[in-house]
Amino acid sequence: MIEIKPDRLLSDLRALAKFGQYKTGVDRIAFSALDIEARKWIAQRYKEAGLDTSMDRYGTVYGAAPGVSKAVLIGSHSDTVPRGGWLDGALGVIYGLEVARAAQEQGDLPIGIDAINFQDEEGTYLPCLGSRAMIGTIDDAALAAAKATDGSKLIDAIAGAGLTGEPRRLDPARHIAFLESHIEQGPRLEHSGNKVAIITSIAGIRRMQVLSEGRADHAGTTPVDMRSDALTPLLRFGLFVADRFPALGNTETMWNIGRIEATPGAANVVPSGARLTLEFRDSDDAVLDRIEAAVIDAIAALNKAGAHITSELTAKISPTPMDNGIADTFEQAARAVGYGYERMVSGAGHDAMFLARKIPTGMIFVPSIGGRSHDIAENTKDEDIVAGCVVMARAADILARKV
Ligand SMILES: [Zn+2]
Repeated sequence: MIEIKPDRLLSDLRALAKFGQYKTGVDRIAFSALDIEARKWIAQRYKEAGLDTSMDRYGTVYGAAPGVSKAVLIGSHSDTVPRGGWLDGALGVIYGLEVARAAQEQGDLPIGIDAINFQDEEGTYLPCLGSRAMIGTIDDAALAAAKATDGSKLIDAIAGAGLTGEPRRLDPARHIAFLESHIEQGPRLEHSGNKVAIITSIAGIRRMQVLSEGRADHAGTTPVDMRSDALTPLLRFGLFVADRFPALGNTETMWNIGRIEATPGAANVVPSGARLTLEFRDSDDAVLDRIEAAVIDAIAALNKAGAHITSELTAKISPTPMDNGIADTFEQAARAVGYGYERMVSGAGHDAMFLARKIPTGMIFVPSIGGRSHDIAENTKDEDIVAGCVVMARAADILARKV
């Protein structure tokens, strides 16, 4: 049985958080000097654990169990959002290190545990760069086009980091499964009191831009019934979302109107234009289709009543189901160690989305205190950090002995 060492797990997590420490959080965006330093530190830990370690030109660090032809791959990402938390990504990376290290120490598994630390999951330049490169879906054109919001280019960042290794490719003959752990980044586990969530699917995402046209007039002199106000119909649309979406989806469906604006945007001018961005997420494409159709119907009804609204789908990402067999293995593991668990859809994207295209993939979440994430307030109780790693180790052990 793989037995992890809780003190070592926690001290490595805290040591990693020193790279780019910002107050109680971490600022370690992909390809920054501190990001590369942290990756070298992780590579050193992999080596000390006895793994054959390499870092490719993107900064993805891979530690292969030596002398085996098959392995369970475990990891996540160590880059953060600006002024982010200390656990987003780092937790899953250190779980991979600890489980691989404990497996090496015990040396009684029929196959290996490989550890991985992907680059730029957060998308400073290119979201999930490391995991996409590993499954071979990054081409030269995508690399050349990738830029940060400040305009700096990915290819310059790669050159600046001075890394040259060939990207490591996933090997379906070797890698029998990919396991990723992450903090929940939401409040549900804290609310239920369960120690882990077993992820059944990573939600699909659709984004729509909804535009309304009207006519600018003096807001003090043009009678209300003689205006063509672009904003009012859009506010009605917003109420439709708030009132009707709950019945269109289910408890896992998420939606958000994240931005609404009117032009020209003056107190004394009737809005000549207005726009909002709508996003909705679900694990089922049929639910997303139903919501999208309802949105289009609602806009048609508003237009029939005199509005001039158009909509455009600006993003469409399909849901990614996680492997059922691996979800069952996580459940078996949680039960074996006596921790409460529940099944959950991940509303956020993860590297697991890309690995799942090639090999059986599964994820677990541990509770986030107050549900906080992508902020320096992000935190998880030590006992919950340890519990998640115990479940991960047990699941890896079960999978490794099944082969
Ligand atoms: Zn993350």
